[in-house]
Amino acid sequence: MSQRVYKVIFINGDGIGPELMTSALTVLRSVESKFRSVKFDIDFHPGGAEYFKETGINLNPATLKAIKNAHATMKGPVGLPDVRFPDGTEAGVLGGVLRTGLDTYANVRPVRLLPGVEAPIKADPGDVDYVIVRENTEGLYLSRGKGVQTDTAAADTLMITRKGTERVVRRAFEIAEKRQGAPADGMKRVTCVDKANVLPSMAFFRRIFNEIAEDYPHILAEHIYSDAAAQALVLNPGHFDVLVMENFLGDILSDLGGATVGGIGLCASGNVGDKHAYFEPIHGSAPDIAGLDKANPISQILTLAMLYDHLNEFDVSTAIRGAINDALVSGELQINNLGQPKGGTTNAGELIAARI
Ligand code: ATP
Repeated sequence: MSQRVYKVIFINGDGIGPELMTSALTVLRSVESKFRSVKFDIDFHPGGAEYFKETGINLNPATLKAIKNAHATMKGPVGLPDVRFPDGTEAGVLGGVLRTGLDTYANVRPVRLLPGVEAPIKADPGDVDYVIVRENTEGLYLSRGKGVQTDTAAADTLMITRKGTERVVRRAFEIAEKRQGAPADGMKRVTCVDKANVLPSMAFFRRIFNEIAEDYPHILAEHIYSDAAAQALVLNPGHFDVLVMENFLGDILSDLGGATVGGIGLCASGNVGDKHAYFEPIHGSAPDIAGLDKANPISQILTLAMLYDHLNEFDVSTAIRGAINDALVSGELQINNLGQPKGGTTNAGELIAARI
């Protein structure tokens, strides 16, 4: 039997990262014993805040090179509250070096209500199933490590470029093309989220969105202001199929989306460019619960499923998502109102692995 072997880089990360990655590995082992034709050749690399404390850098250049040469990369969350630059910004995060270094311009964040999860909004599984596509290389976060600061004022610059917007909007329409449409009406729809009524940069984003939308006449294109989007994602989430937006807006609204479906510990993401991709949970390293076996590993296990999607190994990703759903529906795996698995992180990983 021929085997498809993929070179994959794993970065465990900080805080709850190592616990989550261990649970994902438990599932991976179960996957590889069932799907013998698919194999990962894994290299583990350090990176993040602990690594910064030891070395003064957050990622070794050799790791970036290894990621560029690999089929894909999965990382746990990174960053620690006490690892800061003098200006107060976090030193041990990898968003800058990886997103810019790999030019992974689209941060793809699915928000889906899973069966068996008690969500804070009134909805049934299947009612909430949309994808936030967050621009990943510019917007307000272009100011990361830059900005201007004196004793009396500080300013960051929000940059929107034509190239950056065209490619991320195009990616959003391509994602919509492959989906089944919005849960409420089955319509394929891409929603541009912006603040075009106030900020010229966002009006520019909207104008470019409209231009690209003309290339996809079979997909509905619409706009919503970001503040109205925050309300609509809570009150009418079934309307949405794919949403595309500037970096900072995407950061905030995807956490909001995650909360509506039971917590950010249930949400995965992919950072995707034309050449490279890496996958990670949407949340941070949750130092408040690190090492306590409380973190929800579903985010990391869904991250693993997204990585298999990226490799076109859809049988595997479908099996992983099915195992998560089965474990939840059976009631064996329960999520508390803080978004944590009731039996602990390790137990949750083992329950899902057993159902592959
Ligand atoms: P970042 O800016 O790096 O995304 P953050 O400062 O926004 O990080 P998080 O680390 O994401 O903060 O944590 C926010 C809250 O969500 C915390 O209360 C944390 O315990 C909780 N949380 C995050 N991830 C999980 C998880 N996998 N399971 C359960 N709770 C989580």
